[in-house]
Amino acid sequence: MNGRGWWLVWLGLAPVIFAQEVPAPPRAWEYVIIHHSATSTGSAEMFAANHRARGMVNGLAYHFVIDNGSAGTADGHIETGPRWLKQLHGGHCRQADVNEKGIGICLVGDFTERQPTARQMDSLVVLIRGLQEQFNIPADRVLGHGDVVGEYSECPGRAFPWAELRRQLEVVGAPFWARPADSESSRPEGRAHEGERPVTR
Ligand SMILES: [Zn+2]
Repeated sequence: MNGRGWWLVWLGLAPVIFAQEVPAPPRAWEYVIIHHSATSTGSAEMFAANHRARGMVNGLAYHFVIDNGSAGTADGHIETGPRWLKQLHGGHCRQADVNEKGIGICLVGDFTERQPTARQMDSLVVLIRGLQEQFNIPADRVLGHGDVVGEYSECPGRAFPWAELRRQLEVVGAPFWARPADSESSRPEGRAHEGERPVTR
C-alpha cells in the first residue's frame, strides 16, 4: 500500500480510535452514600434529565442508580453514571466535601413507607462490597444520606432496611453471593422473595 493508502486507512480508523473512552484514574473515595429517589418510578436517564434541568452541568448527580423495574428498567439493574466513568465528584449532597469523597448510590423508590425490592437490596450489597474492597471503605463509612452530619435529610427514607443491609455487608470472608443460612427466614415480614412482586406497605 502506498503512503496515500495508509493515510486513508488512518482516516477510516480515526473515529473508532477516538471514540474509545480512556478510563479515568480512580479517585480516593472514602464514603458510600445511599439515597432513595423519593419517587416510585425512575431511571438514570430520567434523573439525569431532571438534574440537568436543575443546572447540573455534569448531569446525573449520583454515581450509580439501582432500578426497581419501573420506567422500562429491570428490577435490581445497576446503572453506572457518567460521573463514575469519569471519576467525577458527585452532586448528591449539599456539602461539597461530601460530594468530593462520597460515592453516591440512588435506589429508585420512595422508602418513606415502602422498602426497596429484594433484587435492589441484592444489587446494593454486591455493589457496596465491590466498592468497599476496591477503595478500602470500612462499614462505618457506608452511610445513608441523612446520616451525614449537616445534610438534614430523611433520605433514604425511614423504611430503608438498615439492619438487613448491615448484616449482609458483615458476612466477612464469604463471597458476596453467599447468604447467611437464615437469610430468607429472617427477612422482615412482608418482604418479597426473589421473583415475587415486591410487597407495598
Ligand atoms: Zn439523598
